[in-house]
Amino acid sequence: KEDGNNSVTAEMLNQIIENNKKYRNEGEVANYIPELSKVNPEYVALSVVTDEGKIINAGDVNQKFTIQSISKIIALMIAVEEQGEQKVFSKVGYYGTDKPFNHYSNLETDKIPLNPMMNAGAILITSMIEGTGEEPFQKILERIKYITKNNTINYNKAVYNSERETGDRNKGIFYLLKNKGLIEESEESLNNYFKQCSIEVTAEDLAKIGFYFAHQCQRFDGDIRYQNTDMARLIQSQMLIAGMYDFSGEYARIVGLPSKSGVGGGIAVSVPGKMGVGVFSPALDEHGNSVVGYKMISDLSQILGLNLF
Ligand code: GLN
Repeated sequence: KEDGNNSVTAEMLNQIIENNKKYRNEGEVANYIPELSKVNPEYVALSVVTDEGKIINAGDVNQKFTIQSISKIIALMIAVEEQGEQKVFSKVGYYGTDKPFNHYSNLETDKIPLNPMMNAGAILITSMIEGTGEEPFQKILERIKYITKNNTINYNKAVYNSERETGDRNKGIFYLLKNKGLIEESEESLNNYFKQCSIEVTAEDLAKIGFYFAHQCQRFDGDIRYQNTDMARLIQSQMLIAGMYDFSGEYARIVGLPSKSGVGGGIAVSVPGKMGVGVFSPALDEHGNSVVGYKMISDLSQILGLNLF
């Protein structure tokens, strides 16, 4: 097993892109959110932040896309900071899943949502962040700006409106949570979830998020304002057990790294104590994970011997 970090080069990343971009034909761009179906499936980007915080990019790294479910790890962190882990996880489980991300999971029974990575758990988590109106969303946005040191980040209004207008399933989940007494807020608060999913990032931004959790919540430039070893453990454990939804188990077997995907085609990867990786390619497999993104991460993990196990 090599240490890997120092041997990452732009040529290596470009080669990984070249070897894998053809697989985009095996997937499809998300279309259940109409605005997402307009994204060009040709984009592909791969970014690494090394253990020294050095950024190495390849492909369409300036191309923005919506963060979608990757925002769930940021929301979880803020909810736990504010409420404590015990309170948060009295309302949501630590369970893995064999169900798709938008499944009603346990909501039809007397149980709590399976985990904070599925929509049901994530909608609940965002409702637990303190503040009225848009404040919970603003906290998520501000933290992403901090982690990436990228002040230009904002949300995509067209995607937000599209999600809000067509998000009947998420509204259903919201009302079941409310019916169970897990959420008290009005439907307005669900807009914070739709907005957090619509935040636009690049593959480089995702690599910085991956790095942050790989390094005890320390920023890539060494800033330790939010340093928190236990939080990083919690978030990475969630990424490992449920970050790739119902594919998480197989993914852990093959890649062996905490990772979080989103239907915008991004995946953020944390290599504990080492690097952060961000990928982008919009065509998705049946689980909602980027086809090319997954293949690129598998290759990188194999080439550098990153698999934790
Ligand atoms: N906004 C998306 C939804 O709620 C997020 C899902 C995802 O990225 N898997 O359906």
